Amino acid sequence: AKQDGRGIYRFFTPEMQARSGRHLELVNALRYALERNQLHVVYQPQMSLITGKIIGSEALLRWTHPELGSISPAEFIPVAEETGLILAIGEWVLRSAVSQTKAWHEQGWADLSIAVNLSAIQFRHTDLPGTVSRILQESQLAATYLELELTEGVAMIDPPGAIAIMNDLHLRGVRMSIDDFGTGYSSLSYLKKFKVSKLKIDQSFVRDINSDPEDKAIVSAVISMAKSLGLQTIAEGVETEEQLTFLHQQHCDEVQGYYFARPLAPVQFAQFMLDNKNL
Ligand code: C2E
Ligand code: CA
Ligand code: CA
Ligand code: CA
Repeated sequence: AKQDGRGIYRFFTPEMQARSGRHLELVNALRYALERNQLHVVYQPQMSLITGKIIGSEALLRWTHPELGSISPAEFIPVAEETGLILAIGEWVLRSAVSQTKAWHEQGWADLSIAVNLSAIQFRHTDLPGTVSRILQESQLAATYLELELTEGVAMIDPPGAIAIMNDLHLRGVRMSIDDFGTGYSSLSYLKKFKVSKLKIDQSFVRDINSDPEDKAIVSAVISMAKSLGLQTIAEGVETEEQLTFLHQQHCDEVQGYYFARPLAPVQFAQFMLDNKNL
């Protein structure tokens, strides 16, 4: 610790100060990111292992700042959450993704679903079901094409509140999945109470699936548990043919990862659909 002029000890190391400088910079810059058109959404294809077809995509947010360059969502989503900006940003992502998916439907790909990530904060502070319905209505997209990806953290904030919101969304026909499944602290009992239809197996389990017997055991246990609960499974972070083969053998329903495609801009996604007509 270092003593400053007023006899106060400062415990910040230079790295910590740099980090908080960066943090402040991000807080300020993020306030204007939406209105200055610095945010955009990319779409990563999701494939069915049952039919072999492209079933839809996951919407992933990107931020390109004119001076700071491209900033990872892993860095700016937490900033958006602590400042409350995630409410406006999250609603914008949902509106963009839903209207893009409707446009693809009109181009002839009428089966495509869209998965949108929701922050736990969005779950707590807004009339989420009303907002979701309004956005679907605006774009004239049927609710069954929308899937909301929630992390286990949502369940932990306020279980009764979360259950009520999930019931409401479920009644409106929106599907929900648990993202990063297996990495949270929550008990499995919420799977019984929550209206989720799919578990998304976290990429940390998929990564070493072919070399680590424990990851292998976890993934196959999650898939069979999901099956016996009547839930679907999707594995994320699939990068190799070996991973794909294992997931197929275990009867995982869907896959997503660089093996098929990176997250794509809308024009590239349409090209991917054209290039994979046979899929
Ligand atoms: P996530 O929801 O778990 O998204 C999966 C992340 O894995 C994405 O990173 C994706 O680009 C990456 N990924 C996909 N396939 C592969 C693969 O084969 N290998 C590897 N190594 N990675 C792969 P991304 O886009 O950087 O997003 C990071 C996180 O930021 C997301 O994790 C999600 O938690 C959050 N995020 C992104 N967009 C949004 C959003 O619109 N709203 C909210 N609330 N969070 C978002
Ligand atoms: Ca996700
Ligand atoms: Ca995930
Ligand atoms: Ca994640």
